[in-house]
Amino acid sequence: MSSPFLDRYCVVTVTTNDAASPSTNDLLTAVLYGPNFRQEHGFWRRLLTTEPFRRPGGGTPDERLALSYHRLRILNNALDSGARLAADPRALAALHEWLGPVDPALTTVAGIHYNLFLGSLLDHDADTRRDVSDFLALRRVGTFLCTEVAHGNDAAAIETTATYDRERDGFVLHTPHAGAQKFMPNTSPAGGPKSGVVAARLLVDGADHGVFLFLAPLTDAHRALPGVRVRRLPARMGSPVDHCLTSFDRCFVPREALLAGQQGRIGDDGRFHSEVPNRRRRFLTSIGRVTPGKLSMSACAVGSARVTLAIAVRYAGHRMISGSRATRRIPVYAHRTHHGPLAGAMATVYAMSLLHRRALDGWESASETGRDEAERLVAVAKGWITWQARDVIVECRERCGAQGLLENNGMTELVTGIEGAITAEGDNLAVHAKAAAEMVFSATDRDPAEADGPGDLDDPAFLGRLFAAVEHLWFARARTRMSAAPPGDPLGRWNAASSAALRGVEAYAYRQADEAYAAAVATLPQGAARERLTELRRLFALRWIARNSGDLLASGRLTADQVTFLPDAVEDATVVVADHTPALVATFALPERLMSDWPIAGPRYADVYDDPEGAWHRSRRAGIRGRAAEFRRPVCGSRRRPLREKVAALGTRGVLLAYWGTTSVLSRWFEKPQVSVDESVRRKA
Ligand SMILES: Cc1cc2nc3c(=O)[nH]c(=O)nc-3n(C[C@H](O)[C@H](O)[C@H](O)COP(=O)(O)OP(=O)(O)OC[C@H]3O[C@@H](n4cnc5c(N)ncnc54)[C@H](O)[C@@H]3O)c2cc1C
Repeated sequence: MSSPFLDRYCVVTVTTNDAASPSTNDLLTAVLYGPNFRQEHGFWRRLLTTEPFRRPGGGTPDERLALSYHRLRILNNALDSGARLAADPRALAALHEWLGPVDPALTTVAGIHYNLFLGSLLDHDADTRRDVSDFLALRRVGTFLCTEVAHGNDAAAIETTATYDRERDGFVLHTPHAGAQKFMPNTSPAGGPKSGVVAARLLVDGADHGVFLFLAPLTDAHRALPGVRVRRLPARMGSPVDHCLTSFDRCFVPREALLAGQQGRIGDDGRFHSEVPNRRRRFLTSIGRVTPGKLSMSACAVGSARVTLAIAVRYAGHRMISGSRATRRIPVYAHRTHHGPLAGAMATVYAMSLLHRRALDGWESASETGRDEAERLVAVAKGWITWQARDVIVECRERCGAQGLLENNGMTELVTGIEGAITAEGDNLAVHAKAAAEMVFSATDRDPAEADGPGDLDDPAFLGRLFAAVEHLWFARARTRMSAAPPGDPLGRWNAASSAALRGVEAYAYRQADEAYAAAVATLPQGAARERLTELRRLFALRWIARNSGDLLASGRLTADQVTFLPDAVEDATVVVADHTPALVATFALPERLMSDWPIAGPRYADVYDDPEGAWHRSRRAGIRGRAAEFRRPVCGSRRRPLREKVAALGTRGVLLAYWGTTSVLSRWFEKPQVSVDESVRRKA
């Protein structure tokens, strides 16, 4: 049987391992994950398909939390060195990219232990001898205590004190009032004894030297240690983590507890020394691990958006609905209302992945002079990517109907989990507001597209200039509004400018994503992969330009005809991308073993709900007595239906099932070898 729909969607992409000419899939996978896919991602991709990381079958919040800590131990045992992981922001990001969609709670505690805790210990003074073996062996789990009840995004103002005690040559940690209690870190004894690096205001001889980090043991296996109080916070939405309130009652720690460095240390003379005069700089240096933390949040969001999109696209292919002719059932993906949003999400997910890699690469390779700008891109990318992920995840959940609301289909934890990524490591809005304040003043007044008249909407370079024009327009608007505000009122001036400046930051993120798209297209050889990426970039660009068409028209960058044509251009680009979206899911390289844990990702999802005691099995019941009526994992194929029924059911549905089934089997066959000696994260010997 043939139909335009089937002809369109039944193009099967086969991955081959021919090293001489990488397949379209391989090329696009390298676009998403970077050129060192196996080295950077192989370990994590393999880990999440092993049994302890497969999806749990429910459980109470405490049981689920215990499972997350259990998985943390298994992960740690699999590593040759937790210190190597902590020292490698790229590996930390990859951990989040792969494990985030599978167990957000595990990712939270792992990110805190390896990045914020161990990473902070490793980054500071190499001269200080510190035994970290308990942390590397996870005999003690590390936590990071910065935020206080009264100080979140303004953490530089925290009030916990660390007073130098010259007699005992150490510090006294103290919480002066309820608002200075540490807020959110996972400091309960759940998952094992905990230690923390505690952000506190260093007081020496009555002088306040700013905020530094101090290493402090917090609990044993059962309770808080003397001088420390730990109380569980109410349950948080999303996957369960033991978030707590933590306070200190004149808790003594030795001099080595100070995480010292060029920003400050106590010398053998008992005096404070620092090479950094500015107290805010000292604080920012101390909490430097927040930047890899932001990259990790972006990675989590990118991974989670990819997984939900993969599930939604696969489900759309085998969820059959009534067609316009009563006799014919069609996959819901056949509808523009369905494949349109999913194609748009595909273009966004590629943009998110590319921007994430751009921010990571830029930050890793930044020179001293370019560091501030690189950190700003990391911060802006974190906000933009996690917000985009929320949109993608919500869209994909909706496109799966009620199935998307059931926990075993893999989306619910991601719907709620993304909220944590939006707020943790600096709330998105506050992070973007900080970038906006910097960029209003640093952005030049020169309009990059000023010299241009309207160009050709088919020209990607022209579309690129429109991205820059939108960014320029919003920052120019912000500056004009700020200049017009009455002087002498800094907050009033900022309030006048901030809405426009935030739009400028958003436009900056879009432009960066488009530039990342352009750079990735340029690396690809002529052929199918380059065509797919060019189509994705075009859809991404046109959707953004359509949103800003009023401004672009008013400023003379677009003609009225172009604005009139834009909705059609977006529609055409959507159709092109939708044609390839089912095949593009394979470029995510999600292991089939992972996908098979989520019933709606497979064509036989309805089998999960079959009931051996149901009336429809009556004639066969004699043979299957004693089987409990329970929900089951999906099975591949079915022996229940006679062959003639299966043949009769063939048609649109049959061919689509064949498509999705074939790609899934082929991807299993052609999955890369599971072991690679050159991986950046190494298995224990
Ligand atoms: C899942 C999760 C895990 C966490 N883990 C840890 C941890 O391990 N250790 C730790 O120390 N902390 C942790 N936190 C706390 C986290 O760092 C803070 O939640 C975050 O810094 C924001 O602080 P807040 O929640 O107090 O928000 P607030 O700072 O109170 O912000 C509230 C609102 O005000 C807005 N706002 C604040 N300041 C500004 C501004 N300058 N301009 C404009 N708007 C502003 C924000 O955008 C937000 O909408 C965690 C949080 C989450 C969600």
